[in-house]
Amino acid sequence: MQPLPDPATSLRALEEALGAHAAAYALDWIGDCDSSNTELTNRPLPSDDRLHVLVADRQHAGRGRRGRRWQSWDGGSLTFSLQWRLPAGGTAPAGLSLVVGLAVARALEDCGVTGVQLKWPNDVLVHGRKLAGILIELVAVQGRPAAAVIGIGLNLHLPDDAHIPDQPAVTDLFIELGGRAPDRVAVLGAILGQLRALLDTYAMAGFGALQGAWEQRNAFANLPVSISGESGSIHGTCIGVGDDGALCLRTAEGVRRIVSGDVSLRPDTGGPT
Ligand code: ATP
Repeated sequence: MQPLPDPATSLRALEEALGAHAAAYALDWIGDCDSSNTELTNRPLPSDDRLHVLVADRQHAGRGRRGRRWQSWDGGSLTFSLQWRLPAGGTAPAGLSLVVGLAVARALEDCGVTGVQLKWPNDVLVHGRKLAGILIELVAVQGRPAAAVIGIGLNLHLPDDAHIPDQPAVTDLFIELGGRAPDRVAVLGAILGQLRALLDTYAMAGFGALQGAWEQRNAFANLPVSISGESGSIHGTCIGVGDDGALCLRTAEGVRRIVSGDVSLRPDTGGPT
């Protein structure tokens, strides 16, 4: 694998890739940190409407949901976070992780990846294998959610001996582009472009405006799944998502809506869970 350029050089390349749109972002690129989400959460909230982006070449303690680990490798991963001020109202942003997943999916499609799928609520798969994860954390001011810190980890080119626990199938862009090395700055620029557009739509019209596009890519549409969380498991057929981003399951007791993102969705193989 090629050694990484220094962060200042990478930042200039990203500004060039974004061209005239670069002014819509406040961009920062650093060599390493524990977690780009932690780093951004500790920074002051943005005082302007730009998307504040922090890219880290290396994360020492990348995080997933519920204290799980996000693994990344030098030069083999893209890890970055952004701060997004929530639209006025101070309510938890229902469906935000789905919007972010859709933005990543569209960007990957723009980069030539086929078979991109979304797994509720926060994973991006390609042909059933996990390519990217999303972690959203809210920052409250005076007890009300004021901003979201959105973290994205994406596999560019995993080492042959990469071992990722608890994940049945993973993939990377190198594989999905047919053995072509992905241009990480171009991929990042494409994701940031889609995020800016879709977050604007979401702020103005809510998740309902993007629901159809999400469902087109739903990895488990009409398939049996199980949802497990702290309060147990629910089995059913995935029939889509609501206009608030809730997962809708047809179960033996009728249609159930799952709103909490703190659960894991798995294909239901009929065996014990
Ligand atoms: P799940 O994918 O099991 O539903 P989740 O969506 O809660 O879990 P995330 O918060 O996205 O998971 O990320 C943490 C999990 O992702 C880890 O427990 C591990 O299974 C998996 N993981 C960690 N690093 C990677 C990686 N580089 N590529 C793919 N999967 C990873």
